[in-house]
Amino acid sequence: MKIYKTLTTSLTVFTLATFANCAYAAGELIGITLPNKTEARWVMDGNNIVQNLKAKGYKTDLQYSTYDVATQIAQIENMITSGAKVLIVSPVDAVTLSNVLQKAKLKGVKVISYDRLIMKTANVDYYATFDNHQVGVLQATSIVQKLGLDAGKGPFNIELFAGSLDDNNAHMVYAGAMSVLNPYIAKGKLVVRSKQTTLTKVATLRWDGALAQARMDNLLSAFYSGNNRIHAVLSPNDNIATGLISSLKGAGYGTAKKPMPIVPGQDAQISNVKAIARGEQASTVFKDTRLLAKAVVDMVDAITKNKPVPVNNTKSYNNGNKFVATYLVKPILVDKTNFDAVLIKSGYYKAKQIK
Ligand code: BGC
Repeated sequence: MKIYKTLTTSLTVFTLATFANCAYAAGELIGITLPNKTEARWVMDGNNIVQNLKAKGYKTDLQYSTYDVATQIAQIENMITSGAKVLIVSPVDAVTLSNVLQKAKLKGVKVISYDRLIMKTANVDYYATFDNHQVGVLQATSIVQKLGLDAGKGPFNIELFAGSLDDNNAHMVYAGAMSVLNPYIAKGKLVVRSKQTTLTKVATLRWDGALAQARMDNLLSAFYSGNNRIHAVLSPNDNIATGLISSLKGAGYGTAKKPMPIVPGQDAQISNVKAIARGEQASTVFKDTRLLAKAVVDMVDAITKNKPVPVNNTKSYNNGNKFVATYLVKPILVDKTNFDAVLIKSGYYKAKQIK
């Protein structure tokens, strides 16, 4: 009798679990929450994801969390209550979602981390992102090539900036960039006059351009007065590049006598592509949100149809709890020489948007 009971209980558990996994119908609701609407890239991501999901017949609930952790948690709770079957989440803060994702797990809701990895929880099923280490490598490569360091020139002065410490991408991008810059710093070909090189020293909370601008103002007045010009600033994204360039202009950079330092970026935002065309910003890293949106929607579709989920990397992204199966998209370095081909001929932007 006892054995029979145990057997039926485990069979019920098995059946329920199987049912929870398979119980997808057409037109399921997919919840999406992204960090903010103030950066153009997230707006494009949101639009592209929704368009792709709708084209496949899904219902969507797209929310932006105005960079507020509590707001994002409440959004996820609402999505679970409304019956969302898959959640696409780009966290405001990588480590604050464990409790709400536990609730998702109990309801059989699958979770895809989007662009930014959700850390320190087992309840994230997949990850779709751009190769973040490579983003940093490209930013630093642009500095090395444009200064002519690879042709033996130097020494040059550089200052370093990184993204937000609560965003795993900031860590990966900085590590990628420093893997290229460190050998030049070690040889004295690149000099960080402030000596601020650790991630905690150079990070920018919430990737806030105004905070970066204020730090740059301080660095310029403390370390680059008189004849000590700055030749490059490692900028982790376009928003921060805009802040840095404002600060540099304020200190008189951007003239024939005092040229603008090499400032890279990330996201290929329209205003930054214009700055590249004007010769103020040196480069950016283009991350084609159309491709990432397609990748994440293919994941959703595979999940709801119980098919194998497309991933191409299972060993690079450990969230502190497990390696998360990932689909990586390649980032592309863009500067004055190729923005037309990469951004306009590909149809990402219209020529008139860049004028
Ligand atoms: C993204 C970048 C973005 C930054 C600030 C990062 O996680 O990968 O593309 O610029 O967040 O929103």
